[in-house]
Amino acid sequence: MKKNYRVDIKPQECKGCERCIAACSRSVLEMSGVLNPMGYVYARYVGSGCIGCRHCYYTCPEPGAITLVECSSPRDSL
Ligand code: SF4
Ligand code: SF4
Repeated sequence: MKKNYRVDIKPQECKGCERCIAACSRSVLEMSGVLNPMGYVYARYVGSGCIGCRHCYYTCPEPGAITLVECSSPRDSL
């Protein structure tokens, strides 16, 4: 069965460096345009299209900001 993934980005942990966006070959991450409590515009997952490559996870300098979640169905990945 094909695996499905989604990326959770914690707004309060993100410093808005955009490295994850540059690292994603699927272009499924974007800047939210919203400030977090520290005053940084945080990144977010667009909601579909993640292939689980983890490039965003490994390039993010903020431990805990990005979590990759393996989902059992496409529905869970939304
Ligand atoms: S795991 Fe890969 S495809 Fe998914 S958001 Fe991160 S860089 Fe993009
Ligand atoms: S790489 Fe990490 S800190 Fe930088 S924008 Fe992405 S989630 Fe935020």
